[in-house]
Amino acid sequence: MSTLRDATPSRCSRRCQWLLCCLLSLTGLIITALFTRQFWQDSLTAWSVALPGASLSLLLGILLFVLLSQRQRALALVERRTAELQGSREALRLSEERWTLALDGIGDGVWDWDLRNDHLYLSATWKSMLGYAEDEIGNHPDEWRERLHPEDAARCQQALHEHLADRTPMYRCEQRLRGRDGNWRWLLARGKVVERRADGQPLRIIGTHVDISARKALELELRQSNARLQRLLEAATQVAIIGVGADGRIRTFNAGAERLLGYNREDVQQQPLDPLLDGPSLAASAELGVPPGGALALLEALLDSPHQHRELETILLRRNREPLHVTLMLSAIIEADGRRGGFLLIALDIGERLRARQALEERSQLLEKLGAQVPGSIYQYRLFSDGRSCFPYASAGIREVYEVTAEQVRSDATAVLERIHPLDRARIIDSIQQSARQLTRWQEDYRVLLPQRGLRWLRGESMPERLADGSVLWHGFIADISNLKQVEHELRALTITDPLTGIHNRRYFLDQLDIELERRTRTGRPLSLVMLDIDHFKRVNDTWGHDAGDQVLQELCRRIGARLRRIDLFCRLGGEEFVIICPETDASQAAHLAEALRRLVQGTPFAQAGQVTASFGVSSARPGDSHGSLLQRADQALYAAKGGGRNRVCGETAPLPA
Ligand code: GH3
Ligand code: MG
Ligand code: MG
Repeated sequence: MSTLRDATPSRCSRRCQWLLCCLLSLTGLIITALFTRQFWQDSLTAWSVALPGASLSLLLGILLFVLLSQRQRALALVERRTAELQGSREALRLSEERWTLALDGIGDGVWDWDLRNDHLYLSATWKSMLGYAEDEIGNHPDEWRERLHPEDAARCQQALHEHLADRTPMYRCEQRLRGRDGNWRWLLARGKVVERRADGQPLRIIGTHVDISARKALELELRQSNARLQRLLEAATQVAIIGVGADGRIRTFNAGAERLLGYNREDVQQQPLDPLLDGPSLAASAELGVPPGGALALLEALLDSPHQHRELETILLRRNREPLHVTLMLSAIIEADGRRGGFLLIALDIGERLRARQALEERSQLLEKLGAQVPGSIYQYRLFSDGRSCFPYASAGIREVYEVTAEQVRSDATAVLERIHPLDRARIIDSIQQSARQLTRWQEDYRVLLPQRGLRWLRGESMPERLADGSVLWHGFIADISNLKQVEHELRALTITDPLTGIHNRRYFLDQLDIELERRTRTGRPLSLVMLDIDHFKRVNDTWGHDAGDQVLQELCRRIGARLRRIDLFCRLGGEEFVIICPETDASQAAHLAEALRRLVQGTPFAQAGQVTASFGVSSARPGDSHGSLLQRADQALYAAKGGGRNRVCGETAPLPA
């Protein structure tokens, strides 16, 4: 603190004062001298006047000097204090400017509330945080209050009140303020009273606002994802999820774990994992030895780098010590700093699956056994939408049926399809496609050409079902029916063959004649019939007996059959009456053939019966002919040959020369 004594006037003013005082003293001395001159005659009087006068003048001069010096000092002091005050005010202004700028610079809004006049200073950054320009917000505390979120208002007012009342060292409140665009922004307000009256009444509080919207959004996201995770953990009742800390103690134990393992969460929380693990089983499934040190050591061994994740089939132990067969997914929980913060165990109950697998194995063994006993193959055939096909299952019999192995056709059926007889392949593929379209039973007899056994007849029967991917799966059975086909063939042959002579019978003749007539109509090629009847055959029987007659019939058929072309069809119409269908043969060619045959019969005597002759009638097909009309004309020609003396050939109009 400066005093007047410290204030020193300048040298110039001091000199002026000195001169002024000297002048005053001199003036006093001169006045005294002038005044003393009247009393000069009387020296005593003169001295008594001059001495006090001079002294007084000197005293007055000194007094004036002292007074002027004091004033000068006072003025200098005032001047210095004013300068000091201005200096400190400037320093304060600069300091305020600096911290405002500093806080603005790091993005914090600054506020300064003078409670004496309720003036609230808000920095440009504070305003820009809410999207306002400098001049869009005034200086009243209501500017803040009005923008405060209703849900935060009471809490923040309370925090402010507590600090103003000096009950808290600082004002701090997270609050939402409405921005210019109407959206809420999260801000952290912090402040401190910087001036109080002697009685503690706050006079000024300053503080900052920091934008914490991003942090709040992250917090919200974290909260939501935590909630989601929690819901997920709770919803996963079929999956046991167990979180274990780095110390090997259980941290997370979800509803699925409670259900599958029979523990309550409270019982196992913060407890070691050991009672839940079957160490030897877990180690064995990872082909490890059981390390000393319990569950934690085992988990660490299982998840040593490079294994940060493993999936194993193992056993967990329920509370009642029963084993729980699971697929266990093990993962290391890696902290942000790269350390291993624990383990996550996710266990899926596979007990049901194992039982199902076992049942399936039993059933497939049974199927194999049955399949081995059944002649043929039980199979599944699958046809994909793109045309590919395969046999997902085929019993061992497929080796017999197609001469392929089940493995060979498991993913591609081509080897089987290639073995189908070329004449049947298109028909079989068509029928499979039709069965796939209509999902109707597939049943076909077809031939296959096998590398070893050659031509075989197969019969397939199966029922289709459409699968989710659009493919069709048949379940069925294929058997080799070659023997059956043989019998069938023989039976059929019997029905169309004459048992005595071995040539075709009348029924077959009529069927074939119809076919040939149709072919003739289509192609326009000629077609003729040669009909023959043994002459006086009754006499043969009568003379040589019925057996001899039979032998004549057989021998005659052998001779004629040997003479005919392969396309000619020789049939017995009944008794000793025969007919030959001659395709691509006109009337004259047929007559020549008949003549040759007549000679053949007549030319060589028969074993017992000796010479035998026959009469022949020839007819040729005309447009519009039926088998009846054509046969009738041949019969008429034969009748004519008989009438003409037998052992001759007759055409439709006139008998041909013998
Ligand atoms: P035609 O010259 O007029 O034809 O005189 P035909 O004796 O040959 O004719 P007919 O119709 O009078 O006699 C046919 C005989 O053929 C009568 C029948 O006993 C005999 N016959 C029919 N089928 C057989 C058979 O399967 N075996 C034997 N041995 N004889 C048969
Ligand atoms: Mg006869
Ligand atoms: Mg006859």
